[in-house]
Amino acid sequence: MGILDGRTILVAGVTMDSSIGFAVAKVAQEQGAQVVVSNFGRALGITRRIVKRLPEPAPVLELDVTDEDHLAALPDALREHTDHLDGLVHSIAYGNPETLLGGRFLGGPWPDVAQALQVSAYSLASLTEACLPLMGRGGSVVGLTFDASKAWPAYDWMGVAKAGLESCSRYLARDLGPEGIRVNLVAAGPLKTLAAKAIPGFEDLEAGWSERAPLGWDEGDREPTARAVVALLSDFFPATTGEIVHVDGGYHAMGT
Ligand code: NAP
Repeated sequence: MGILDGRTILVAGVTMDSSIGFAVAKVAQEQGAQVVVSNFGRALGITRRIVKRLPEPAPVLELDVTDEDHLAALPDALREHTDHLDGLVHSIAYGNPETLLGGRFLGGPWPDVAQALQVSAYSLASLTEACLPLMGRGGSVVGLTFDASKAWPAYDWMGVAKAGLESCSRYLARDLGPEGIRVNLVAAGPLKTLAAKAIPGFEDLEAGWSERAPLGWDEGDREPTARAVVALLSDFFPATTGEIVHVDGGYHAMGT
């Protein structure tokens, strides 16, 4: 018996087996879910190879969250594999590392900022809306943030995008609660993934995390984050929405 037995989940944003989305797909399958995965563009071929490392085969859909046609076609693409969706995992972010990240806050050009906001924040709403036709019996939407209540080294405009994502999740929670749909985020500590490596100076952010976090922190272990996402997808958080669950070893709660 798994906590996602009989559930169908879309995990959007799986490129490598280092992706948080891959860890979520793995734990979700271990907990009984049928999983559909999506990614976009040139990395799609990599995703198709990588999903073979999951416990069960998972269909891979092409989905660029900035492409209106992809979003409009998503319900039909999903219907080729399932007649309903119980959960959506948004594990997607992008900001141009050469213009927006690594200490480049001042001077960040608007077209790049707009792209970062669209991919990393607005897409939580657009992707959720695209999935609604298959979520008629309620469901759970879970996204990934990096605590946007603070200004971090190197994170710059991605921090602003995450603040937008966090606000977006609360408005979605407000509007979709009456439909029985919960919307929550997991605020993970720093994890070694492609997205993290692309941020110049992200190591400064990682530095000292495990010392300050009372539970310690392993940047190579994505399983605690994945488990929290899966718990939020399950019935074990039936009255929780608009929430941000920290999975950071307790770092956020410490003064120094
Ligand atoms: P990741 O493996 O690089 O995952 C990010 C995913 O977003 C990739 O699959 C990427 O595809 C996809 N993506 C980018 N632009 C897209 C678009 N226009 N349409 C659809 N997909 C797009 O890195 P990750 O660390 O697992 O990131 C997953 C989530 O966790 C992100 O929201 C990230 O901000 C968040 N998070 C990460 C950390 C960390 O320390 N790693 C901490 C807290 C929160 P491509 O690879 O093809 O570009």
